[in-house]
Amino acid sequence: MTSLSRTRVVTRTIALAALAAASLGCKVVIEHAGDSARSTKRSDTVVSLPYTRPADTVAAASRPAVPAPLPLPQISTADGDVSDSSAAETTPADLAMLSLELIIPLPGVKASELRDTFNEKRGGGTRTHEALDIMAPRGTPVLSASAGRVLKLHNSKDGGLMVYAADASDRFVLMYAHLDRYAEGMRDSVPLRQGQIIGYVGSTGNAAADAPHLHFAIAHPRDVKLWWTGTAIDPRPLLR
Ligand SMILES: [Zn+2]
Repeated sequence: MTSLSRTRVVTRTIALAALAAASLGCKVVIEHAGDSARSTKRSDTVVSLPYTRPADTVAAASRPAVPAPLPLPQISTADGDVSDSSAAETTPADLAMLSLELIIPLPGVKASELRDTFNEKRGGGTRTHEALDIMAPRGTPVLSASAGRVLKLHNSKDGGLMVYAADASDRFVLMYAHLDRYAEGMRDSVPLRQGQIIGYVGSTGNAAADAPHLHFAIAHPRDVKLWWTGTAIDPRPLLR
């Protein structure tokens, strides 16, 4: 790489990081996110919600039941507030690293075609979407945006068939929802290559049947073992 092109890459990375940093809001807990997943936006001192296992979770014989996760630890402060210990601090360097790690998880889609859906209101204005929706024909292969590993194959009323995966750094959770079906060989804990087919676009969960799309979200939890938690990060500025 010439020093000129290196300078250009670094400059672009910093610009991306600044852009993405600007999109980071206050701390958020995501519960089995789908289009109408509940995200609770709070000031920094408000409660960390314990994850309640959704009643709609499918625990078919072919799938292991989701273990009841432990309630997130809550730390009381002197004035009675509760600090959130589930969300992690995301730095501009983290975002620059993620940007270099990720590809657009649908084949043939250009960055310029991605719509900004992160800040859209959903649920009748009661919450923010906090994910990237990419419209695509049913059956379009969904690609692993990063190397990493499957954390959890999950099924919920809102998100439908979902993959929760750890990125290559094992610090971020990448979530793909409304899948029509999983790719063969997908199961909890399997390693993933970047670009590997993990499933197919569909409209499971609360997506409209005539509008199949991929719901792609990124979260930064304190630990990826807490795959249902974390600070939401807008994927779109990171996908180039
Ligand atoms: Zn969505």
